[in-house]
Amino acid sequence: MKTGTRFDIIFKKKYPVEERYAPITPNEILKQYFGYDSFREGQTEIIDALTSGRDALGVMPTGAGKSVCYQVPALLLPGVTLVISPLISLMRDQVLALVACGVPAAYINSSLNDTQYAKVMARARAGTYKIIYIAPERLLTPSMQELALRLEISLLAVDEAHCISQWGQDFRPSYLDIPEFVRALPVRPTVAAFTATATPRVREDILRSLVLQNPLAVVTGFDRPNLYFEVKKPKDKYAALAQYLRKRGDDGSGIVYCSTRKEVEDVAERLQASGHSAARYHAGLEDAERSRAQDDFLHDRVRIIVATNAFGMGIDKSNVRFVIHYNMPMNVESYYQEAGRAGRDGLSADCILFYARRDINTALFLINKSENEEEIARNRQLLNHMERYCECDVCLRGFMLRYFGEKSDTDCENCGNCVGVFDEIDISVDAQKILSHILRLNKAGCRFMFTHTADILLGKSEDFTDLSTFGIMKGVPRNYIRAIVNRLIALGYIQDSESKFSTTPRAGEVLRGDVRVTMRGQKPDSAEKPPRPAKQKASYAVSDNLLIKLKALRLEIARKELVPAFVIFSDATLVDMCRKHPQTAEELLSVSGVGQVKLERYGKHFLRLLRE
Ligand code: ADP
Repeated sequence: MKTGTRFDIIFKKKYPVEERYAPITPNEILKQYFGYDSFREGQTEIIDALTSGRDALGVMPTGAGKSVCYQVPALLLPGVTLVISPLISLMRDQVLALVACGVPAAYINSSLNDTQYAKVMARARAGTYKIIYIAPERLLTPSMQELALRLEISLLAVDEAHCISQWGQDFRPSYLDIPEFVRALPVRPTVAAFTATATPRVREDILRSLVLQNPLAVVTGFDRPNLYFEVKKPKDKYAALAQYLRKRGDDGSGIVYCSTRKEVEDVAERLQASGHSAARYHAGLEDAERSRAQDDFLHDRVRIIVATNAFGMGIDKSNVRFVIHYNMPMNVESYYQEAGRAGRDGLSADCILFYARRDINTALFLINKSENEEEIARNRQLLNHMERYCECDVCLRGFMLRYFGEKSDTDCENCGNCVGVFDEIDISVDAQKILSHILRLNKAGCRFMFTHTADILLGKSEDFTDLSTFGIMKGVPRNYIRAIVNRLIALGYIQDSESKFSTTPRAGEVLRGDVRVTMRGQKPDSAEKPPRPAKQKASYAVSDNLLIKLKALRLEIARKELVPAFVIFSDATLVDMCRKHPQTAEELLSVSGVGQVKLERYGKHFLRLLRE
């Protein structure tokens, strides 16, 4: 489908906001336009700040509902809200979704042809839109500057604000134009920044670079309780993927991330050859094939997309049921963001990472390509944390939350490490060898990285041959030593500063034999896992006849309207429909996600089906 067609749809549907329903409070806006009864954590505070003219920073996980935080104020404030957004596909989907709810919105980016661009600009000048999405590259163009001088811009929302930080994984230089754009405006609008993935360092970068003034910072929990996390170490990754898909049956669509184009090609081909509905996506493909793959996935014409990390930033598909990483990503930020594309609708979804030690070599190869020493050092540090995630045997969710600066010391019972079946291995003696080795090196004034430390233990080093720990682990697999080192770091016996090791005062407990150190070794893949706790089971039965019928109806309407199905209603809304079984328009309005405009537009079709 051509963007032009969609664009015209967006363009024709225009809803003068004030006359229709005249909502006055944030809650009324939420109900009438978005169909939701109450705000989620963090939303009210941010909306209150923005509507009273105070800047804000919202750090909330994917799916938490950041968009509502600026869309509701946009409908309450006079004039227009500009939203800076990094990706064309994201803008298009957001605008489609807004228009479907009856909000006059448009986007300005390079996908518009000259005629469309002229139309949007003319309508923007005439004050037609309440929300305009803009690509950052456009901000300082003469036509945009000219438009900005004429508009009454009440609010400037910066989406994916981590793109402004070099410590973020998606640095976009054009984000640095934002402060200049704001400075050039006759009246400074309220500025709001949003991001899902921000370590404290990135957060500071955002506040400083965007020059937020006395901002209200709202950092909600990063936890996504509906996501199940697991790290698998399969010998044969493809076989593990095939097994996973077999177990799932036909339930739900998903993303398989690979680190190279070649691997994308291989995996996609093999899936297709074994009858799966799969498409490939990477930067080496023609634009046309890429956007077709993306569209087919968004519109549920293809079930699985096999992709490099070029796919997905801003993919707003709410019903992704699994994200499988075929290789280890380069850092925890990227991983959490990519995995977080699963289950945006709040229903349960799987995030599974297939890890092999060689993934680290691939990552190091990519990192070392840079000519910037500082960047290499930074990326190596980030990689270390990712590796530790893969090797750790503590609660995976807890690991992630602590990484993002949250306290977490309980087991989640919804990750591979909490529910898996493992062998407990006693590693006390090997731990003593490694700790005394590092202690000796430290005493000699040396702090080494893993490779050098291990080389001496393995007797493969040219130096330190007279150290008493030289060669004491000869013949032991390097992976095993690495796993123990990671375990000792996790337990606080080794301190890792810029990837160089030293022992901590607590190491004495192990060296003296006061404590036993154990590590989990995973049983072979065939081991059956215990069933997941009941509360984590999918919150709907996929065989539910009504749900299947509702989905089919949604797809039929979506195809007619040339929009992705979730723009009509999200999976969560259909599930709520099954639960409440509404028979009248009023009852349908009580379903989460059914607002006034959607009721008028689609209500009768759905009610007909529900009454049957
Ligand atoms: P984010 O941008 O934080 O990833 P979105 O803004 O896309 O998340 O919201 C995720 C989903 O949650 C969307 O389907 C959205 O409509 C829904 N949502 C947002 N706020 C609420 C709310 N208060 N109640 C119910 N659903 C909500």
